[in-house]
Amino acid sequence: MQIEMAERILIIEDEAYIADFLRRGLLYEGYAVEVAYDGETGLAAARDRPPDLVILDLMLPGIDGMEVCRRLRAASDVPILMLTAKDAVPDRVAGLDAGADDYLVKPFDFEELLARLRAILRRRRPTPTQEVLRFADLTLNPATREVKRGDRAIELTAKEFDVLELFMRHPRQVLTRDILYERIWGYDFSGESNIIEVYIRYLRTKLEAGGEPRLLHTVRGVGYVLREP
Ligand code: CA
Repeated sequence: MQIEMAERILIIEDEAYIADFLRRGLLYEGYAVEVAYDGETGLAAARDRPPDLVILDLMLPGIDGMEVCRRLRAASDVPILMLTAKDAVPDRVAGLDAGADDYLVKPFDFEELLARLRAILRRRRPTPTQEVLRFADLTLNPATREVKRGDRAIELTAKEFDVLELFMRHPRQVLTRDILYERIWGYDFSGESNIIEVYIRYLRTKLEAGGEPRLLHTVRGVGYVLREP
């Protein structure tokens, strides 16, 4: 993305004082933060508003952290930092087996959490020179800003490119209009605006100019999704 955006952290933690402590600390550090107090809400939040990283408590009411971790991992490659009150080795191993990127044992030091979080985000952050995003026969190079469908080069405007890049970073995930507004334009559009529809229409015209099948699909009443035809 060419736009500066706060990295989004989703905290899934039932203990309100820990969640609040984390939320305030991370906001202060410049992250955008959302809190879910149980696994089900957390999974819904991760699906509806894809975060850049999830801080996940192991001990949760309802669906436990390990299961939440598995489901998050099954749905996306979002980095997961697991919190556990237990210092037992089997728990740590199970957490990492379930797909967590790292874990912290409670009580933890906030600076330690920040360091781990930065390390995970840095590892996940693509190296601009190497990374090429691919989906179906579509390729997008964030460094050179080249887009191709098969061998056909596609010329996009800056905003069209940003919209397509967001979809290619979240394939098969429905991106709501709110997410698109917020991520691409950096704020909420209040009232009626058809700017998203307009950009999607431009993109489709260009992506399908060679008679290729549709990849950007409308999910009526919700938003749009990049998926196989
Ligand atoms: Ca807990």
